[in-house]
Amino acid sequence: RSTKPTRIKKICCIGAGYVGGPTSAVIASKNPNIQVTVVDYNIERIEAWKTDDLPIYEPGLLDVVQAARDGDSTKRTPNLFFSTDVDRCIAEAELILLSVNTPTKSLGRGAGHASELSYLESAVRKIGEVAETNKIIVEKSTVPCRAADTLRDVLAATAKPGLHFEILSNPEFLAEGTAIPNLLNPDRILIGSLKTPRGLEAAQALAAVYGAWVDPDRIITINLYSSELAKLAANALLAQRISSVNALSAMCESVGADIDEVSYAIGLDKRIGSRMLKASVGFGGSCFRKDILSLAYIAESLHLFEVADYWRSIVDINEYQKDRFTRRIVRCLYNSLSGKTLAVFGFAYKKNTGDTRETAAITVIDNVLTEGANVRIYDPLVKESQIRQELNSTTVRLNCAEKQLTVCESAYEACTGADAIIILTEWDEFSNRDEPMRRDSGHGRKTDERAERKLDWTRVAELMRRPMFVFDGRNIVDAAALEELGFRIECIGKA
Ligand code: NAD
Repeated sequence: RSTKPTRIKKICCIGAGYVGGPTSAVIASKNPNIQVTVVDYNIERIEAWKTDDLPIYEPGLLDVVQAARDGDSTKRTPNLFFSTDVDRCIAEAELILLSVNTPTKSLGRGAGHASELSYLESAVRKIGEVAETNKIIVEKSTVPCRAADTLRDVLAATAKPGLHFEILSNPEFLAEGTAIPNLLNPDRILIGSLKTPRGLEAAQALAAVYGAWVDPDRIITINLYSSELAKLAANALLAQRISSVNALSAMCESVGADIDEVSYAIGLDKRIGSRMLKASVGFGGSCFRKDILSLAYIAESLHLFEVADYWRSIVDINEYQKDRFTRRIVRCLYNSLSGKTLAVFGFAYKKNTGDTRETAAITVIDNVLTEGANVRIYDPLVKESQIRQELNSTTVRLNCAEKQLTVCESAYEACTGADAIIILTEWDEFSNRDEPMRRDSGHGRKTDERAERKLDWTRVAELMRRPMFVFDGRNIVDAAALEELGFRIECIGKA
């Protein structure tokens, strides 16, 4: 067989979410000769991608989307499209990116915490049914080890005879909130393939797509199953660092140490490094918990029970941290939240995203509502409907506590008459530190202006009841400065 790489001209990305949208936009913007179409059966999402009010928020995303989708002043021809015509786009593409969701399974006897692969299976069935030509199929979704075998099996049973489907693993490592810089300047691009001539050829074709902007040294081609496992492992290790630091934060609070100082000291060791060592109320987001539980499930299915327990302990510490934080709030507020008002600053699972999946805010708010508190939530980006939907779908208690909950338009509205502020997202707006605000241009949303505004803590103090508490679940405030204004500050990992 020839070793000349196949030149890809048409890509179809199935799944227009946090991964599929930004990844496709960057691929299209860097490969003007490739037509990239993102498909989804969610009509509302696809229609939003065609406007400037994109369905997801990422700093810098709109610029990249507009350049590829609408063309630009250099008379660039548009090459990024969004469509619900899944069949046609699959049929026309040579390379298909699978970017569908793979959440933790919630139903079924003995399902444990396996990944739900039904979305992936249904996407691949569709490929089998409509394909008239050979395809390269790329797992961008995070999948369990050997998911490629499942996909191959589904294709063998559904596709027309004589067609060839080469499965690649190309996991996505972007972090929400920094997706565009992560995609433009990735630490590495991992491409896993079978070590067959066809597998290697497909890997080369995908490498050529990334080669348009990524240094060849950073494009790593490895074994298909190593690549699948490496993605789960990377997320597990990132989460493990957070849980390790959070476990240390509990000790700091008891022994009079300061977790920020401990993390700083640890991070100076070059073998460890300083990133992902920030203590917090706990990690959230759609990936860490799900991927660790998937890893634990795989270990268990291999009868590696101690290994499974090890991975699960990372999730357990995370749950413990959220509950510990709530217990501290109750303790400081004289052991009762009944009739007290708590202003919650931030609902997104991290700053610079509107994503609220598995945000620590859900657990903390649920806990304090149960203790009888009135909760006034403010997030610069997340809309009231999304907050209520998230809380309703995950908390049983909210139905009887609806009147305890208010979603506010500003931080000042939230803290009016409040006994305490609980910071749950590290939005720059909430910090009273002096670091320069990063201004992201061109993502074109009114809410961005709000996200970039700094809070006037003197005004906050005027609005609150006495005594005034701040429970900083992200360690973003300068406690000494706020104490001068009369606040009592409780930070994570500080006595
Ligand atoms: P998402 O829920 O935002 O998007 C998935 C999209 O796929 C949805 O819009 C859904 O409607 C669509 N979809 C599902 N099945 C479909 C089908 N058969 N046909 C057409 N469309 C279909 O999910 P996401 O956050 O983009 O994550 C996608 C995958 O990427 C997951 O496996 C996740 O673990 C992984 N991942 C996510 C991130 C992240 O930060 N969000 C980072 C790295 C990897």
